[in-house]
Amino acid sequence: MKMPKQIKAHCPFCNKHTLHTVEKVRKGRATTMAHIDRQKKRAQGIGNSGKFSKVPGGDKPTKRVNLRYRCNECNKAHNRKGFKVSKLDLVEG
Ligand SMILES: [Zn+2]
Repeated sequence: MKMPKQIKAHCPFCNKHTLHTVEKVRKGRATTMAHIDRQKKRAQGIGNSGKFSKVPGGDKPTKRVNLRYRCNECNKAHNRKGFKVSKLDLVEG
């Protein structure tokens, strides 16, 4: 998928539509998975780790990309929910 480097989007800081610069980021919004971490820690004692002994599968054909939208007016950035795409190119214009 090709995507322009600059798009018009709503800026939550200016509260209007402005030109935004698109940047790729590795991780999106942090999720609260603290309870999973606690479960994993509990499973790492003596005996079978239950569902946590599963080996993660191979690579999936599409990956979720997360983009950061930086407002050209106030220079603040906000995120949107990532979407899944096999390949993302940021193109000029
Ligand atoms: Zn702004």
